[in-house]
Amino acid sequence: MRQRPLAGIGYAAGLLHPENQMKRSVLMMIAVAAALSAPAHAQTAEYQLKARDIYARIISFRTAQGQDQTPAMAAYLIGVLKAGGVPGSDIATLEAGGATALIVRVPGRSTGRPILFSAHMDVVDARPQDWERDPFKLIEENGNFYGRGTMDNKAGVAALVSTILRLKAGKTGPARELVFAFVGDEETGMETTRAIAAHPWVKNAEFAINTDAGGGTLDDATGKPLIYLVQGAEKTYATFDLMVRNPGGHSSRPRADNAIYELAHALDKIEAYRFPVMANDLTRAYLGAMGKAQSGAVGEALRKFAVDPTDTAAADTLAKAPEFVGTTRTTCVATMLEAGHAENALPQRAAAAINCRIFPGVEVDTVRAALVAAIADSAITVTTRGNAQGSPVSEMRPDVTAAITRAVRANYPGIEVVPYLESGGTDGKVYRLAGIPTFASSGLFSKPSEMFAHGLNERLPVASFYQGLEHVYRLAVELGGMGRAR
Ligand SMILES: [Zn+2]
Repeated sequence: MRQRPLAGIGYAAGLLHPENQMKRSVLMMIAVAAALSAPAHAQTAEYQLKARDIYARIISFRTAQGQDQTPAMAAYLIGVLKAGGVPGSDIATLEAGGATALIVRVPGRSTGRPILFSAHMDVVDARPQDWERDPFKLIEENGNFYGRGTMDNKAGVAALVSTILRLKAGKTGPARELVFAFVGDEETGMETTRAIAAHPWVKNAEFAINTDAGGGTLDDATGKPLIYLVQGAEKTYATFDLMVRNPGGHSSRPRADNAIYELAHALDKIEAYRFPVMANDLTRAYLGAMGKAQSGAVGEALRKFAVDPTDTAAADTLAKAPEFVGTTRTTCVATMLEAGHAENALPQRAAAAINCRIFPGVEVDTVRAALVAAIADSAITVTTRGNAQGSPVSEMRPDVTAAITRAVRANYPGIEVVPYLESGGTDGKVYRLAGIPTFASSGLFSKPSEMFAHGLNERLPVASFYQGLEHVYRLAVELGGMGRAR
């Protein structure tokens, strides 16, 4: 999981129309109260308790890189699934890049293309000595579940398993085949995600729901639900190394060419360079929704840009807003610098790292070429670090949007559901690159100030956990062609 954009969220409360605000907030209080007292009634208690038990068990596996606990967690999940009626022939274990992943299929009654649901089992490591509580023990306290992976992404794993068990316990299976993926290395190589995307059960999937991003935002001060975001695309992450070499020499005898000065001039040019403005349906929908509730010059620019992305004045205003600039164009910024080897020597080498977040549809090489042209100095080499690869936009589908909106509004009536462009990264890009349109929707709501994924004292509101279970189940039922969940 990467941090959801918190852009303009503080103003988004106004998204609720004033005339309906009272009615909605009453409904929401009822909904939230019901969720907080979950299990709310006897019929639902059993699966919720079961899911909580699974959640507690999987938090206890330290599935971080180097700890080798993911195979044990996968084995535990296989046991739970088999006990819940999933035949061994519908479970596959995959190994890739030294990691273990699991896929589970729930056959459909008809022959439509399958739908994929995805979550990841691995976590970013947590050092127990740095935490206030044991990070590998699920602890419920102050209305929160604490533990590494409570948010990222073991609530998603529990929701997928819970959904499979509920489908298996039901009288009729889904009309469409549903495939559930448990990725083993999302936080590192994403090799198992690649293996999953290529697997015969998955490669023909019509689209995917990823539980590893997307979700609702609660107002930091009041806890009021503000907006629900569905991830439909990701920016490409790429780093370019700038390098100047020079014969150097004694600093008492300066020469006309100097690696540090040359690099500094190149950085000046990159600072001044602006990549062209870009937009697509997804970013316009997002910026428009943000603009609806935001006042002032930025709000006006958001509204104008959403209507007309060629409005250069609006684009210029947004270029100065750190929370929005990334949704309007490719951005590159200097992040590291290294030069020289002695205080009394002319530098033989000067290097800088330029980190770029590339707009979907733009090739990494195109960005490199733009940097080379902006620098216009053949003494500077510009090389791409690693194997950066872009991924396409998944345009929102009416069926998916409708199902997600219904599932979210079951708890938060009237809340606006908006797609967004992720500036961080999840393994959704691997599925998109493999040709599977992917929408990230966790069903989880949290406050921006309480977002601790990858950090210390990671937590998830207890109510949010149960809502996340219900979210995935409702999507599976509706998208799987079983009507609408009640
Ligand atoms: Zn994640």
